[in-house]
Amino acid sequence: MNLIVTIPEFRDARANLFGTVGFVPTMGALHRGHMSLVKKSNQLCDFTVVSVFVNPAQFAAGEDLSTYPRTLDSDLKLLSNYNVECVFAPTSETMYNTDFSTFVDENSLSSGLESLSRPHFFKGVSTIIAKLFNIIQPSHAFFGEKDAQQLRVIQRIVENLNFPIQIIPGPVVREENGLAMSSRNEYLNKEERSRAGILYSALLKTQKQITDGERSVKKIIDLVRKTLHSEPLAKVDYISIVNDKTLIEVQGDVSGDVLVSLAVYFSDIRLIDNITIRFPE
Ligand code: AMP
Repeated sequence: MNLIVTIPEFRDARANLFGTVGFVPTMGALHRGHMSLVKKSNQLCDFTVVSVFVNPAQFAAGEDLSTYPRTLDSDLKLLSNYNVECVFAPTSETMYNTDFSTFVDENSLSSGLESLSRPHFFKGVSTIIAKLFNIIQPSHAFFGEKDAQQLRVIQRIVENLNFPIQIIPGPVVREENGLAMSSRNEYLNKEERSRAGILYSALLKTQKQITDGERSVKKIIDLVRKTLHSEPLAKVDYISIVNDKTLIEVQGDVSGDVLVSLAVYFSDIRLIDNITIRFPE
């Protein structure tokens, strides 16, 4: 497994990879969620490339760019247990030189949900992913359903900008109490971490409600809010029910597949989670 930090070096290495190349983009501080995508790439592709880059363009002023966990040594150790051809870990200066002025801006799927709280976010994600796709030139790229809106935005970009890349989603990997694994979980203290399982409990209740026949979006959201409010440490940012394909808010009654998403603060740590609920036949 090679650690590569510059683009010319990566291009040289890439020129020697004959076969399918699976790409797993990450911001590091790797956990089992990331590893599930690496495993999938190992199963599907001849070679696997992982990037580790904390992308400044997706953080707004006041967010956690400077404190985001950077653990490259232990990330490399973890990755060495898998079949990883190389790890691309460029510096910010390499990815954004001083005359950087070109952005990718998807304008439909990016507009609601996470964007309402983090308006800068998807432009930053879309731009870095397009750049990484152009550098890595993968045949397949792996993204977690943990970031459901991000996954759909990237699928749209690949389609709209004709990247010859197959996007492969991976299911959310969870801690024992149901909390979706996230590098940001490291910020939580022990008590917060154990209580944060409430996000998934609320999502599972929603799933049960819909399969039991409840259709009213208002009633479903009320129950989620009530569940989350039962946990005094949890402060709700948003609860949303959108059409699973268009990501447009469902009004009135649920009548097709929906994506239920939550963003909840524990202290000042913002956690997100989601579940896709298939409309019962
Ligand atoms: P990040 O390092 O947070 O930018 O995540 C890199 C990739 O790992 C993204 O495609 C995420 O959706 C995915 N990912 C992060 N956490 C999980 C998880 N708990 N389960 C599955 N995929 C995840």
